[in-house]
Amino acid sequence: MNEIPDLRLIQESSENSLDKNPSAPKAIVLLSGGLDSAIAAKLVIDQGINVVALNFHSPFCTCSSNSKYNQCGAVYFASRLRIPIKTISKGDDYLEIVKNPKFGYGKNMNPCIDCRIHILEKTKAYMKEIGAKFVVTGEVLGQRPKSQMLHALQTIERAANMEGKILRPLSAKLLPPTDIEKEGIVDREKLLAIHGRRRNIQVELGKNYELIQQYCAGGGCRLTDKNFARKLRDYFDNNPVPQMKHMKYLKIGRHFRYEGAKIIVGKDEQENKMLETWAQKSDVILSVKNIKGPSTLVQAPKTDAQIKFAAQLTLRYSDAISGDYIVEVRNSRINNQWTDITIQQDPEIMQKIEEYRV
Ligand code: SF4
Repeated sequence: MNEIPDLRLIQESSENSLDKNPSAPKAIVLLSGGLDSAIAAKLVIDQGINVVALNFHSPFCTCSSNSKYNQCGAVYFASRLRIPIKTISKGDDYLEIVKNPKFGYGKNMNPCIDCRIHILEKTKAYMKEIGAKFVVTGEVLGQRPKSQMLHALQTIERAANMEGKILRPLSAKLLPPTDIEKEGIVDREKLLAIHGRRRNIQVELGKNYELIQQYCAGGGCRLTDKNFARKLRDYFDNNPVPQMKHMKYLKIGRHFRYEGAKIIVGKDEQENKMLETWAQKSDVILSVKNIKGPSTLVQAPKTDAQIKFAAQLTLRYSDAISGDYIVEVRNSRINNQWTDITIQQDPEIMQKIEEYRV
């Protein structure tokens, strides 16, 4: 069973010696925006290590939207810990990994093992750049069934060619000693032996270190969400060359696919505005004239049937009751090939809506 550690022991040198001793050994902490990696950083800072934070950002991160301050959790924790932070955006190469992970998926479309390898490979380059000796992560043994069991941690280290270079302070005492512990640069006795999914110790430490005001348990990743995963799978099925810049569309609205065309119906005023702003030249925006309701984005429609179906959806999610309504059809081309249409709700189409939902 996990025991609450003796904080006095851990906090013996609670002052961050970073500013005082720039010649101290340097480490990179992979700050995810979750509490675990922030505590891992603190445990190493308290041993006099010169810690620099590295955060990998992507449209799949949920920390800033979960945060009551609407701020990236990693940036927040770095400022609380008074350490510098560098952010790297995951690119299209990462999407290829999400599409075809060598080590498979977790519960949904989260390719955690491949994701960690990818991150560590990028981290290695940054280690070289700043002369860091090792990497610190907030991983906890047994916390995640696929990527945080001992064999998975070892697989990740081997694949990234980082054996002995990754210190996991929250579970260090349960893991084989790293090079840095063997060399005595980090005192293993001051590290922890946390195991499993419960976060009571981390929360306790977070309070003690005054890190807890903003608490995002696991860093937050949309790839673990089943609704998001469904939309992403549909995207991959219909876009042979996936691009990160398209991921923003998957984060909002109700999604439908009709005869190959992707249709996104805004859920509120803010989403309506986003969809209108994001519409490309070949896209079309629909809304019901004089009635409160959604803006609907149809991506590169090709047929009248696609527009008619999108018009029905727009009517369905508007305040329209019964009778004829005009659905405005707009796009940014000078010669809009589509014209406004006057329609009534079609009960037959309404019944089939769910068949087309992504
Ligand atoms: S949860 Fe998401 S960000 Fe975290 S390792 Fe898995 S895929 Fe990567």
